[in-house]
Amino acid sequence: MFGIRTARLAVIATAVALGGVAITVTATPAGAATCNGYVGLTFDDGPTGSTGTLLNVLRANGVRATMFNTGQNAQNNRSAAQAQVSAGMWVGNHSWNHAHMTGMSQSQMQSDLSQASSAIQSATGVRPQLFRPPYGETNGTLQSVASSLGMRQVIWDVDSQDWNGASVSQIVSNASRLQSGQVILMHDGIQNTRDAIPQIMANLTSRNLCPGMISASTGRAVAPDGGSTPPPGGGGSCSASLSYPNVWGDRYNTSVTVSGASSWTVVVAVSSPQRITTTWNGTASVDGSGTVLTMRSNGSGNTFGFTTMFNGNSGGRAQVRSCTAG
Ligand SMILES: [Zn+2]
Repeated sequence: MFGIRTARLAVIATAVALGGVAITVTATPAGAATCNGYVGLTFDDGPTGSTGTLLNVLRANGVRATMFNTGQNAQNNRSAAQAQVSAGMWVGNHSWNHAHMTGMSQSQMQSDLSQASSAIQSATGVRPQLFRPPYGETNGTLQSVASSLGMRQVIWDVDSQDWNGASVSQIVSNASRLQSGQVILMHDGIQNTRDAIPQIMANLTSRNLCPGMISASTGRAVAPDGGSTPPPGGGGSCSASLSYPNVWGDRYNTSVTVSGASSWTVVVAVSSPQRITTTWNGTASVDGSGTVLTMRSNGSGNTFGFTTMFNGNSGGRAQVRSCTAG
């Protein structure tokens, strides 16, 4: 039987179960609810004409990612490059125009990467600290040139294979191999990649992994630094506490109480095959998979709720992915 208890605990990024019935989570804007580790989601070859669509999907899922831009694309799509940073993404250098670089002389490498960094900085206001060589092709000279320009080389641990025609389910399956600290290769401009993001996030959430930034000192995924880059939604921090006041044989209700802001956006997720059905007391948007709910305050107060169908998974409960004020 499920009873109801309410807890108010000042616990950061920790889920505390009391008698197995009530869970209080304090989420940072970066979605650090129950983060036992971080992974680096990366999107190469932008910015493109569909960067805006990608950013919408990422924001709807509470994701911050690293965008490895070519200098030429940043120069040709300046507003899309700016939108990446405005949406809370980190930007890296992916060469000037995606040439095979290992055949270049040292001075050609220097000129290529420096031109790319200047174009990216001009478009975004941010000087890249990370460099990903096109095709992952590198050598010692290229690495030292990147380093001399203040950038750490970052390859990847997991290849999503999205560039190779992978289906949505194959991309999701590849991403499910990600372990804490690791980095996955994906690309801007591919619809299957965008369509895979809700399921990738559901899988990461179920394993208490959160999207993080890539450290320029270690090249590994770490917690976002909360520095100059604004979080998704552009606001400050708030907290979302979850409880589960009603549980039936086929479904359960989740009640969410927000503190720290009167105007907010909360992203919560359930584990597939669970599906979010009805919601109340907010402006709701449920993604195509039915597992991610983005709820915005609508003047009905600081508590909202929703019903989730078990669909055979009666053990899982909704989790907070992020709470953003403003
Ligand atoms: Zn590339």
